[in-house]
Amino acid sequence: MTTLLRIALAAVSGLTGLAALYLVQSPGRVAHEKALLVVAITLLLGTTLLSMVWDMLRKSRPAAPEPEVALAAPLPPLSLSGDDGTVVQGEISKLLQLLRQHADANENFSDVLERARGELHESLKAEQVRIIISYLMIENDRMKARTANLQANLETSQRQIERLKSNLATAEAQGLSDPLTGLRNRRGFDVVLSAQVAACRDGGPPLSLILVDIDHFKAINDRYGHPAGDDVLKWFARILAGSVKGRDTVARYGGEEFAVILPATTVENAVKVAARIKAQLEQQVWQKPGAPNTLLRVTASFGVAQIAPGEGTSGLVARADARLYEAKSGGRNRVAA
Ligand code: GH3
Ligand code: MG
Ligand code: MG
Repeated sequence: MTTLLRIALAAVSGLTGLAALYLVQSPGRVAHEKALLVVAITLLLGTTLLSMVWDMLRKSRPAAPEPEVALAAPLPPLSLSGDDGTVVQGEISKLLQLLRQHADANENFSDVLERARGELHESLKAEQVRIIISYLMIENDRMKARTANLQANLETSQRQIERLKSNLATAEAQGLSDPLTGLRNRRGFDVVLSAQVAACRDGGPPLSLILVDIDHFKAINDRYGHPAGDDVLKWFARILAGSVKGRDTVARYGGEEFAVILPATTVENAVKVAARIKAQLEQQVWQKPGAPNTLLRVTASFGVAQIAPGEGTSGLVARADARLYEAKSGGRNRVAA
């Protein structure tokens, strides 16, 4: 009910009271004054009573539920008066503070609400306070549900992201590695070389590249069969990988051709690395799987190049390849730089 209507009711009540007084004091001036007196008093009592009842109903009726609000939005203001109001406001402030803290921290929501409800119940017993607290509890439950929902959604999203990340990492690793030898494949080689070339572009440390090609590999395939040739490739890859340091990258460039990327390495030192690999090969023999008496010495040719100022990946690879060609044409089983 609006304030205007209440003022009107009060005015009607007052006027009716005055009319009743007038009639009581001047009985001879109006016909049927007794009947009018009864009507006036009834009206007076009726309107006053109606106003009181309406006021009580308005106070006891809980506020209509609010539409969905943001988690951090403040609760609607509550109009209270007197000492009760002050205490309740204090308790509500405490509760709101607890609720906000909880919404921020997003934990122990139920415990906070239970504690706040207990405190309010002990110190304030008025019906009004219980209604307010019930209202707040409904709001809190809604916030709790929203928070739980949000948390569940976040956890689901997080799990999905973790799964996607893991799938992506697996796919990426598979896409960059050679299934036969476990080394990086050509794509993996390109990725690493691009990064290393970029790193040494602005006056960074030197970068060297070794291209390695197994000598007369076709003959190995022809003599022992393709699966044996595969085994030679795996054996060769293990020797290569075991001959370099952790920062260096060994890749299967293609077929029976391999590459070693050597960051922070001059061409002189890269030649030493190639010579070390060559020596390793000379010391070891390949043994055909399931045929202990079938042994083979395997040699390879090496082309070495150091990146030139302003040179890109293709330029470096082309120069290393040119040196490899020289090693081959020079008689194989040698290092050219
Ligand atoms: P060179 O000394 O001049 O390098 O002679 P080569 O026989 O090593 O070189 P060529 O290019 O004539 O032959 C390379 C062979 O490597 C031919 C090809 O069938 C074989 N090859 C390439 N990839 C694989 C593979 O994955 N497994 C096996 N078993 N053989 C492969
Ligand atoms: Mg070869
Ligand atoms: Mg080749």
